[in-house]
Amino acid sequence: MKVVTIGYPRIGLRRELKKSLELYWKGSCSFEKLLSVSQSVFFEALRDQANAEVDVVGVGSHTLYDHVLDWTLRLGLIPKRFRSEEFQQKAAVENRLQLYFAMARGVPGIAALDMTKWFNTNYHNLTPEIDQETLSTAVSRCDWSDYLLLITDAVKEIGANRVSAEVLGPFTVAQRAALTDVSIVDVVRELIPIYKKLLKDIHDLNVSEVQLHEPAFVLETFHTDEFRLLASEVFAQFGSIGVPINLVTYFDDLGDSYPWVVNLPGLKAISLDFTRGNNLELIKKHGFPENIRLGAGIVDGRSVWSNLRHQTSLYRSIKALVSPKTEISIQPSCSFQFIPIDVTVEKEALELLNSFPKKNVSLRFARQKLKDLRAFATEFSNDDVAIGSTISETSERHSDEPDEKLLNRSVPFDERRPLQLPELRNVLFPTSTIGSFPQTKEMRRIRLKFRKKQISEEEYYRAVDDYITYCIGVQEGIGLDVLVHGEPERSDMIEYFAEKMDGFLFTTNGWVQSYGSRYVRPPIIRGDVARRNNKPMTVREFVVAQSKTSQPVKGMLTGPVTILNWSFPRKDLSLKSQAFQIGAALRGEVKDLDDAGCRVIQVDEPALREGLPLRISRRSEYLSWSVRAFRLATSIARPETHIITHFCYSDFGDIIDAIKAMDVDQITIENSRSDDAMLKEFESYGLVPDFAPGVYDVHSTVIPTVNDFLKHLHSMKNCKLRNEGFWVVPDCGLKTRNWKEVIRSLRNLVNATELLRNSL
Ligand code: GLN
Ligand code: ZN
Repeated sequence: MKVVTIGYPRIGLRRELKKSLELYWKGSCSFEKLLSVSQSVFFEALRDQANAEVDVVGVGSHTLYDHVLDWTLRLGLIPKRFRSEEFQQKAAVENRLQLYFAMARGVPGIAALDMTKWFNTNYHNLTPEIDQETLSTAVSRCDWSDYLLLITDAVKEIGANRVSAEVLGPFTVAQRAALTDVSIVDVVRELIPIYKKLLKDIHDLNVSEVQLHEPAFVLETFHTDEFRLLASEVFAQFGSIGVPINLVTYFDDLGDSYPWVVNLPGLKAISLDFTRGNNLELIKKHGFPENIRLGAGIVDGRSVWSNLRHQTSLYRSIKALVSPKTEISIQPSCSFQFIPIDVTVEKEALELLNSFPKKNVSLRFARQKLKDLRAFATEFSNDDVAIGSTISETSERHSDEPDEKLLNRSVPFDERRPLQLPELRNVLFPTSTIGSFPQTKEMRRIRLKFRKKQISEEEYYRAVDDYITYCIGVQEGIGLDVLVHGEPERSDMIEYFAEKMDGFLFTTNGWVQSYGSRYVRPPIIRGDVARRNNKPMTVREFVVAQSKTSQPVKGMLTGPVTILNWSFPRKDLSLKSQAFQIGAALRGEVKDLDDAGCRVIQVDEPALREGLPLRISRRSEYLSWSVRAFRLATSIARPETHIITHFCYSDFGDIIDAIKAMDVDQITIENSRSDDAMLKEFESYGLVPDFAPGVYDVHSTVIPTVNDFLKHLHSMKNCKLRNEGFWVVPDCGLKTRNWKEVIRSLRNLVNATELLRNSL
């Protein structure tokens, strides 16, 4: 039985690519040096897979920035603004790589391509921009010579028969793109001849097969007759070129389109994800063709956990359902780019794990998962008994569902709101901020020293408290109404809480790519989550801050759904139950803050929307437990306590009911870059709680003037939502800005608000 891979981490074991890229952009590393580092990262990945005896290695997703951008450029889909004279003058682009980085990062005066989440992962891809003109002239600009070189290198290294060329398919390219005056169907149609040329070139290299990656096929958009017809036409043409085609799908099952996708013409293999969605059920119902290979994605490419027993039973179930004539290959469910490379360097995490041994469950990164794949294939090859027991992976304990009674505030909004913040009762448009203040070098240094035990706890707290005192002074001086402590003790809004709770593991080198040269190191949930010894996590800093001022200071927490979505979850417990555990832990914290006299508590949920399942039909279930986990955390607050939630986005039309159901007293959102139309939209939602649409773009170095702020304030004033409910705040935390920018901007924000108040 063959082991096939469909993508591998491309950042280098020691984050080599990040370092070289950043030096290159600064001008301190040559073009040649960058390419040579990139080459060695590419070969290291290739050798990892070859040495693990992977039979057929997926090659081609190696990238300097983003694989979607790679294909955008290779297919010739260069947006007009990167072809204009103005661009040429500004960027003086001499080679394709410079054009590539210009599209990724922008140049002064010309914006980069937008970023979007790669389906529901925490990776972000660049968004192709396609209009009729770009599309119809793409053929004159397409150029995949860099890709052919990559494949050629791999062929030389491991042999053509072990190389499977990874290609991003036309349906997914179209689905990822921002389209102007063309449809997805137009894009796919126009790209057919270009792809045919590409496939022909790949065929000439004699590789074993082409993997056409089409994760978009799991989306409902594509489960229509129109796409059935189009896909039949496309794959019949692609199939006739001669190179065997493996249609690779992941992140969910094929849903309603399963019966026709597996019977598309021209395919040699189909790869399915058996770790998400329910492809197994679809095979049971509709069968699987005998004459094509089934790429069985049984090893979860997005999880750091492996459950050997579960994977074995999954394989057996698949085997029992397909014809004995059907060839099966053992595969990861998707690319391994979503997990770190090697767990063996994580001595501390592994030691900790060994003290809580769990049957059949182990911590595995990409290299270890390759070994698992090989071990499975060997074991299964000797295994003629196809039918074994099948076990369900998540053993749900019903007691994990919180009691309904714990989910409700003691008093409904209308009755409790008048009890809150009496000092602001006559203040229209109160002002505040979202939590963090500038993360100074000094503060970072002190946190690091404390972590390394180079300074005492006392010394550390003194530095934190000095910073808090300064923050409070600045805010009072500027004249803000509700203050924050500034979050100097937090390097990260997830890690800070995870470190104070039981049930998490941390890595020293567990990096995964977020986008371009930005990598993150998510905590790993290993067991039941609870506050360590039930001790408060944020109360000390709140108390210090509140002791410096008579104005209300916000308590500041990260919400349960965001902590879950920005960590690696467990696999032996449902996401829902993990969210409830974190919710219960935060409930203790809300209670402790409340008891310490905190009258405003903000619980940030910027990742709530990100966790939305890809399939619309699965969303209401997710939103239902998300809302309940949030309410579990917050509903314990006394009626006098003002509960806020914060999101870093303003497009929540499709989750508005869930947001309303969170039953908060105030909603803050990112909004400074939206216009009046957005507020009109909110008007139509008829929001009941207080509302704080951000007025300051915290990602920009520009300091908004009083007039800039007044524009936003007038739109708010003219909005039909109740005026007493509006707050004036920045879009998000200010940790990436410097003090000078923050002080000037917030002063203008307060002055503008006072002008508005005086005019009312
Ligand atoms: N309170 C956090 C901060 O101010 C919120 C961060 C976020 O929403 N991403 O930094
Ligand atoms: Zn935010």
